[in-house]
Amino acid sequence: MKRLIFIGPQGAGKGTIAAHVCPKFEIQHISTGDMFREAMKKETELGKKAKEYIDKGELVPDEVTVELVKERISRKDCYNGFLLDGFPRTINQAKELDKDVEIDKVILLEAPEEVLMQRLQGRRICKNCGKVYHTENIPPKKEGVCDICEGELYQREDDKPEAIKKRLELYKKETAPLIEYYKEKGILKKIDAAQPELKDIVDDAVKAIES
Ligand code: AMP
Repeated sequence: MKRLIFIGPQGAGKGTIAAHVCPKFEIQHISTGDMFREAMKKETELGKKAKEYIDKGELVPDEVTVELVKERISRKDCYNGFLLDGFPRTINQAKELDKDVEIDKVILLEAPEEVLMQRLQGRRICKNCGKVYHTENIPPKKEGVCDICEGELYQREDDKPEAIKKRLELYKKETAPLIEYYKEKGILKKIDAAQPELKDIVDDAVKAIES
């Protein structure tokens, strides 16, 4: 049973690393950003509400996000554990989560701002299956087309320069205080997420989780 959190600025690679780490521990990868994007694609009530905030690079209100996560982690497929990616993002969300579950470990993915900017600006996502690429770091075999399902690749509205700036500022203001919050609880582990080889970052994340 593992209940984990990935914290780190946008572009640190939380989603990519989580996709490699979760199968190793047979736990669910729960990304609030992916859940919102899925809801936006399906144009559900949740999706419509979230879109107002997401496209501008703002946070979706806590009352919406907290309920979404609590419901998701209470499902049967999370009995063996889960890794939260993109949640909590505020101290209030962390406190709400603490009321329901005990978190085993929080992994902080650290990377300097120039690495984050380079990763965010080149990020492309498959419209169909959600797989993440990078124009230089992880290019698809054929430009603009997903290797797996041949879906069209697109750039997230919030990965455009103005929204990126806003999101990184928001991270410093709202999310970075969580580092101290979890450090005080004695469950925080840091890893270097700027290493050029994805495998090295994944290995360090696995070690940090097992430590
Ligand atoms: P991400 O894919 O994690 O970068 O999330 C994309 C966007 O979804 C964020 O910029 C927020 O607008 C929204 N979002 C994701 N997770 C949260 C959260 N925990 N709290 C509030 N908004 C969130």
